[in-house]
Amino acid sequence: MKTQSRKDALRYFFSKVVTPMGFKFTPDAELVDFLLEQEVILESKHGIPFCPCQPLRHDRERDMKIVCPCIPFHREHFDAIKRCWCGLFVHQDVTDPDSLPQLSPGEVGHE
Ligand code: SF4
Repeated sequence: MKTQSRKDALRYFFSKVVTPMGFKFTPDAELVDFLLEQEVILESKHGIPFCPCQPLRHDRERDMKIVCPCIPFHREHFDAIKRCWCGLFVHQDVTDPDSLPQLSPGEVGHE
Protein backbone atom coordinates (compact mmCIF):
# COMPACT_ATOMS: atom_id res chain seq x y z
CA MET A 1 0.00 0.00 0.00
CA LYS A 2 1.39 3.39 -1.01
CA THR A 3 0.50 5.22 2.22
CA GLN A 4 2.11 2.51 4.32
CA SER A 5 5.32 2.51 2.30
CA ARG A 6 5.56 6.29 2.56
CA LYS A 7 4.93 6.11 6.31
CA ASP A 8 7.74 3.57 6.57
CA ALA A 9 10.03 5.85 4.54
CA LEU A 10 9.25 8.87 6.74
CA ARG A 11 9.80 6.77 9.85
CA TYR A 12 13.22 5.70 8.59
CA PHE A 13 14.24 9.19 7.47
CA PHE A 14 12.97 10.94 10.61
CA SER A 15 14.74 8.54 12.93
CA LYS A 16 18.04 9.37 11.17
CA VAL A 17 17.37 13.09 11.68
CA VAL A 18 16.09 13.14 15.26
CA THR A 19 18.48 10.61 16.84
CA PRO A 20 21.54 12.89 16.68
CA MET A 21 19.41 15.61 18.29
CA GLY A 22 18.67 13.41 21.31
CA PHE A 23 15.09 12.54 20.35
CA LYS A 24 13.28 9.33 19.43
CA PHE A 25 9.79 8.35 18.36
CA THR A 26 7.34 8.29 21.26
CA PRO A 27 6.79 4.81 22.71
CA ASP A 28 3.07 5.31 21.95
CA ALA A 29 3.02 3.26 18.72
CA GLU A 30 -0.59 4.10 17.96
CA LEU A 31 0.14 7.85 18.12
CA VAL A 32 3.19 7.41 15.87
CA ASP A 33 1.15 5.54 13.32
CA PHE A 34 -1.65 8.12 13.37
CA LEU A 35 0.66 11.14 13.08
CA LEU A 36 2.75 9.62 10.29
CA GLU A 37 -0.43 8.89 8.39
CA GLN A 38 -1.52 12.53 8.77
CA GLU A 39 1.89 13.65 7.51
CA VAL A 40 1.60 11.43 4.44
CA ILE A 41 -1.78 13.03 3.73
CA LEU A 42 -0.32 16.54 4.16
CA GLU A 43 2.64 15.62 1.97
CA SER A 44 0.39 14.32 -0.80
CA LYS A 45 -1.58 17.57 -0.64
CA HIS A 46 1.24 20.10 -0.27
CA GLY A 47 4.34 18.20 -1.37
CA ILE A 48 5.86 18.59 2.10
CA PRO A 49 5.24 16.61 5.32
CA PHE A 50 4.04 19.52 7.40
CA CYS A 51 3.29 19.19 11.10
CA PRO A 52 -0.06 17.50 11.68
CA CYS A 53 -0.78 19.53 14.83
CA GLN A 54 0.03 23.04 13.61
CA PRO A 55 -2.05 25.10 11.18
CA LEU A 56 -0.57 26.20 7.87
CA ARG A 57 -0.59 29.98 7.58
CA HIS A 58 0.53 30.18 3.95
CA ASP A 59 3.45 32.31 5.05
CA ARG A 60 6.42 30.45 3.59
CA GLU A 61 8.99 31.53 6.17
CA ARG A 62 6.75 30.55 9.06
CA ASP A 63 5.40 27.38 7.42
CA MET A 64 8.90 26.05 6.72
CA LYS A 65 9.40 26.06 10.50
CA ILE A 66 6.68 23.43 10.85
CA VAL A 67 8.09 20.93 8.35
CA CYS A 68 8.58 17.69 10.27
CA PRO A 69 10.81 17.19 12.15
CA CYS A 70 10.73 20.84 13.22
CA ILE A 71 12.91 20.27 16.29
CA PRO A 72 15.78 22.63 15.28
CA PHE A 73 13.40 25.58 15.04
CA HIS A 74 11.79 25.03 18.42
CA ARG A 75 14.61 23.35 20.28
CA GLU A 76 14.47 25.39 23.48
CA HIS A 77 10.78 24.71 23.98
CA PHE A 78 10.97 21.02 23.05
CA ASP A 79 13.98 20.45 25.31
CA ALA A 80 12.06 22.02 28.20
CA ILE A 81 9.01 19.79 27.69
CA LYS A 82 11.07 16.78 26.47
CA ARG A 83 8.79 16.28 23.50
CA CYS A 84 7.65 18.03 20.35
CA TRP A 85 4.25 19.69 20.17
CA CYS A 86 2.48 16.72 18.61
CA GLY A 87 4.26 14.23 20.83
CA LEU A 88 5.61 12.35 17.84
CA PHE A 89 9.14 12.74 19.22
CA VAL A 90 10.33 12.66 22.81
CA HIS A 91 13.73 12.86 24.47
CA GLN A 92 15.56 9.54 24.33
CA ASP A 93 15.26 8.99 28.10
CA VAL A 94 11.46 9.34 28.11
CA THR A 95 9.52 6.16 28.82
CA ASP A 96 6.20 7.68 29.96
CA PRO A 97 5.21 10.59 27.68
CA ASP A 98 2.01 11.18 29.67
CA SER A 99 4.08 12.28 32.65
CA LEU A 100 5.81 15.10 30.78
CA PRO A 101 5.19 18.74 31.76
CA GLN A 102 2.92 20.93 29.68
CA LEU A 103 4.61 24.30 29.26
CA SER A 104 3.81 27.00 26.74
CA PRO A 105 6.63 28.65 24.78
CA GLY A 106 6.20 31.74 26.98
CA GLU A 107 6.75 29.70 30.13
CA VAL A 108 10.16 28.56 28.91
CA GLY A 109 11.09 32.08 27.83
CA HIS A 110 10.91 31.43 24.10
CA GLU A 111 8.76 32.86 21.29
S1 SF4 B 1 5.75 19.22 16.38
FE1 SF4 B 1 6.57 17.16 16.16
S2 SF4 B 1 5.27 16.16 14.64
FE2 SF4 B 1 4.96 18.37 14.47
S3 SF4 B 1 6.44 18.98 12.88
FE3 SF4 B 1 7.39 19.29 14.85
S4 SF4 B 1 8.55 17.42 15.17
FE4 SF4 B 1 7.04 16.98 13.58
